[in-house]
Amino acid sequence: MTRIPLSIGACEIHWLSGGDFRLDGGAMFGPVPKALWQKCYQPDADNTIPLCNDPLLIITPAMNILVDTGLGNKLTPKEQAIFQAGPWNLLSQLALLGISRYDIDLVILTHGDFDHVGGVVMVGEEGREEVTFPEATHLIQEREWPDVVSPGRRAQESYWPINFKELQRSGQVQLVEGTHQVCPEVRVRHTGGHTQGHQLIEISSQGETTVHLGDLFPTHAHSNPLWVMAYDNFPLEVIACKERYFAEYRQRDAWFTFYHDPLVRACRLGEKGEIIDQWPYRDQAVVPSAG
Ligand SMILES: [Zn+2]
Repeated sequence: MTRIPLSIGACEIHWLSGGDFRLDGGAMFGPVPKALWQKCYQPDADNTIPLCNDPLLIITPAMNILVDTGLGNKLTPKEQAIFQAGPWNLLSQLALLGISRYDIDLVILTHGDFDHVGGVVMVGEEGREEVTFPEATHLIQEREWPDVVSPGRRAQESYWPINFKELQRSGQVQLVEGTHQVCPEVRVRHTGGHTQGHQLIEISSQGETTVHLGDLFPTHAHSNPLWVMAYDNFPLEVIACKERYFAEYRQRDAWFTFYHDPLVRACRLGEKGEIIDQWPYRDQAVVPSAG
């Protein structure tokens, strides 16, 4: 957990630990040859690379907003072994900031994959599944919802009913369409690309801007628009989204923030998409940029 928040005008952004895991490096970099991506992420003998699942906590003058929820505490021992998953420390990390799970006003879900929504429903002290953030509205794009409720053949692999059952019952879901202003400083925009209803989050305050592109830009090494993941459902859309949003937010001198990157929390991009500035994660790490 980076203790120093990223300040955007009147807002603070903290990264919380939602559980590390390892995924196949080849799948993370889709069409990119290993000779290139391994310069950024050195794989283990099983070809996996280390990744985090670290939700952003956005503290605005009026709200505590969580962007995605990490792996949660419902993984079976078999799933933990497959993903080499680490512990989900979200609530204890919130506590370090003096924030309880009852203080989260809004949970924005970029999309429905288990590594982003695993913490929406947790196993509580009595061993029962319950909504982790009982006071929070959970915001998701309307176009994402059909895959959540009734996932197709491919979505079934990563949209797990266990992550949504209690949430559906709770009535704490708000479906939005396209662009939606959440509060004066924060808005979401539908992107598609990674999944049908994937959305981005934009934070703007006092002339400063940050954008969170979710799984469209999973790590800083994906800064080349053509570096897409095998997990992307609509890779051509991902490429178009990256070109569009990189240009738009670069013009606004925005920080691009990451959920999966164990090396860099946020970066700024230059005119050719190259990384010109970075917000470090561990020990001011200096990392190679993707070519
Ligand atoms: Zn993901």
